[in-house]
Amino acid sequence: MGHYLGVTSLPIHLYDTRRRSVVAFEPIHPGKVGIYTCGPTVYGPQHLGNMRSQLLPDVLRRVLGASGLDVRYVTNITDVGHLVSDADDGDDKVEAAAARTGESVEQITRRWTDQWATDRRRLGCLEPDSVPKATEHIAGQIEMVQVLEAKGHTYQIGDGVYFDVSTFPRYAEFAGLTLDDHEATGRIDNIVDKRHPADFALWKLTPPGVSRLQEWDSPWGRGFPGWHIECSVMASEELGRHIDVHTGGVDHVRVHHTNEVAQSECAFELHPWVNIWMHNEFLDLGGEKMSKSRGHILTVDSLVERGIDPLAFRYFFLQTHYRQQQAFGFDLVEASGTGLRRLTQHATNARDEVGGDLLAPGSAGQRAEELRKQFWSALVDDLNTPKAMAVVSTVARDGELSHADRWSLLGDFDRILGFGFADAASVGSGELGADLGAKEPEVAKLLAARQAARLAKDFATADRIRDELAAKGWEIVDTPQGPTVRRS
Ligand SMILES: [Zn+2]
Repeated sequence: MGHYLGVTSLPIHLYDTRRRSVVAFEPIHPGKVGIYTCGPTVYGPQHLGNMRSQLLPDVLRRVLGASGLDVRYVTNITDVGHLVSDADDGDDKVEAAAARTGESVEQITRRWTDQWATDRRRLGCLEPDSVPKATEHIAGQIEMVQVLEAKGHTYQIGDGVYFDVSTFPRYAEFAGLTLDDHEATGRIDNIVDKRHPADFALWKLTPPGVSRLQEWDSPWGRGFPGWHIECSVMASEELGRHIDVHTGGVDHVRVHHTNEVAQSECAFELHPWVNIWMHNEFLDLGGEKMSKSRGHILTVDSLVERGIDPLAFRYFFLQTHYRQQQAFGFDLVEASGTGLRRLTQHATNARDEVGGDLLAPGSAGQRAEELRKQFWSALVDDLNTPKAMAVVSTVARDGELSHADRWSLLGDFDRILGFGFADAASVGSGELGADLGAKEPEVAKLLAARQAARLAKDFATADRIRDELAAKGWEIVDTPQGPTVRRS
């Protein structure tokens, strides 16, 4: 791989949920940026909609990194404290899963943490710099509740310690609401002693005579932390009190992030706590938000089972802006898979023609440099990935570009795209020539899926696909340009 110059000359603009406008991005500490994303609650599988909230920060950190910033990316594991309802009653989700399956909390949280980490990798997401677990930050959470208590922001009732929203006049501002709106949300709420319906739990007490699988001693008694306090503590312990960018699904704005802001700004006496809040919209399953509770659990495995390369979902994600809802359909993701295979074919052909050498940005032809600028300009404009993908398509097909220019661009763009062109199999080489995708689409799909699994170090899936190809009469052959197939 060649040496990149980056895009330092282009100013970056991002949409901030708090200010409701696109704003210029300025790091708090010159040259460095910290990003925090609310991670999974590990009591069950993460569906494809959840993965959209991992893909957004992945694109963001790649763009900030390409612009020369030193990025630290943190996303957490919620392994305690997330209740079955978003209000403050109901069971802890992990405890409920343990009671249902008879497994230990550790077995459950490890299985679903692994599924999430594997699926992130299969979707081409870079590894986080840190993945803190809520249960490993209990002391910090107790300390933060004590700070809030000392500053007069809490009250205790039989059920636990609560944040008093009346002590934070800006409470409803974050979501663009009034306190009455928060009262009117109709959230299921059976905690009768709360002073205001929007008051939220900082520390939940274990009722007398009850013993939980996960509970800790605290100054208020045995219990467990509230979900919101966990994120405030992990974010600040990992990235410092003042945070550059915090991301999450748009469903977190009204409750979880509103509460994170309230407790953090009160405890740290800081405003704004987070410079830029970014939220990805939902993946739309046809009117109804893809839900973990309604029996439609579509995961990365659901794609692989249909022979769809997980990276096709990444391609699919990039085709829509993160602030737009995106309609899901297997046919749509399959179409993205076809687009990805064609693109990979163009990229690897150009790469192989020039022996993999990558021209430095600025040294390609004039037309190529123009396209390069269009690509990066789209991304620094609030991550306009659909516009960037349109440039990618032009580059793949433009007959005026030399192989060297084409590879110079696609190799450069892959820093954001994350398709792994430099190591990708030469789909076009081998016995079937350039037409494998056209003549044997199923085989091409499987070969690409196997390569994606290998790159993600998911060798069990890679081996399973190899066996599947063998059963269909195809043998995988490794060549200097990567694996291809021949009739066995
Ligand atoms: Zn969070």
